[in-house]
Amino acid sequence: MTVLAPYAAHSEHSRGRRHAESPPEYRSEFQRDRDRIVHSTAFRRLVYKTQVFVNHEGDLYRTRLTHSLEVAQIARTAARALKLNEELSEAICLAHDLGHTPFGHAGQDALNDCMRDFGGFEHNLQSLRVVDDLEEHYAEFDGLNLTFECREGILKHCSYNNAVLLGDVGERFIHRQQPGLEAQLANFADEIAYNNHDVEDGIRAGLISLEDLLDVPLFRRYHDQVQTKYPALAGRRLVYEVLRRMINHLVSDLIDASSARLGESGVRSIAEVRSQPAALIGFSPATRELNHALKSFLREHLYKHYKVRRMTSKARSVVSELFDAFFNDPGLMPDEHEARTRLDLVQGPAGRARAVADYIAGMTDRYAILEHGRLFDPSERT
Ligand code: MG
Repeated sequence: MTVLAPYAAHSEHSRGRRHAESPPEYRSEFQRDRDRIVHSTAFRRLVYKTQVFVNHEGDLYRTRLTHSLEVAQIARTAARALKLNEELSEAICLAHDLGHTPFGHAGQDALNDCMRDFGGFEHNLQSLRVVDDLEEHYAEFDGLNLTFECREGILKHCSYNNAVLLGDVGERFIHRQQPGLEAQLANFADEIAYNNHDVEDGIRAGLISLEDLLDVPLFRRYHDQVQTKYPALAGRRLVYEVLRRMINHLVSDLIDASSARLGESGVRSIAEVRSQPAALIGFSPATRELNHALKSFLREHLYKHYKVRRMTSKARSVVSELFDAFFNDPGLMPDEHEARTRLDLVQGPAGRARAVADYIAGMTDRYAILEHGRLFDPSERT
């Protein structure tokens, strides 16, 4: 086993769990976190949640589950190379999208609009809510009772107003501190994974072409390299050979640039990492540019493609119509969810809205479409 760097998260120095538990016998604290995440209900739902393409559009597109696995695998490689805690990085990555709504960002934006007067809806805050409160697996506590380090890593962004309500994991947003390095790493692994798999899924869906992609410098560089080496290669294999080189470039640069920055900063502990003015994990300036160009390309050519927008617009109506129906009449919700709306007795309409948002956020794409049919289509069974 690799020896961890002094600024890595060490399991034995974890700031612990919200509910005290005896230490695991054969696993580290972070392995236990990872195992709890994999066994959670929310994790299994990721298989039916959209990344960009709605689940029923095809069997080969990324779902949130395969996306999360790709993210975890990238983070593990980088964590090991940087002597950071691989198990913690993996746990954070596997949990990072647990709070995602059905229909990807369209669903999150629609739910956020519905929740505008009730504190808003933010998917990574929701991921924390899933692991802290919503999972019902254990006799002695709600949620998964994960370590502070894992919970901190899941909470990627947070507004000041939300941070003051969150206690320990909110503190860094109030004091403007950095999260641990494993959490910083998870953000980049997420980005590397989705930028590259969205290229593949976009090509597969016929929304972007190889010719268009030649305008993206990172793609162009490796496309030319592959063509020189294998002049006859075309189609799927050509795309895969380019993408694997792109991912390798981004991950290697992330490791090299982060390692150099860690060295220059002279940090010797997590406390010193936290008090740095900026994150220490990141790309070199040249690769940051290349990555930025790739992101801009995807925004313009894929996420704004009319076919993606049509799907997005349908998803928005499904989510907002479900929200309005349940909020106006919680009696339409299945009993266990309806019971949670009774929170409004103590919390007012915001409590009811939150219970409705929790129910909708937990839905898979498939379930949201079915539920919408059951509510609005008179020919559907209820
Ligand atoms: Mg993600």
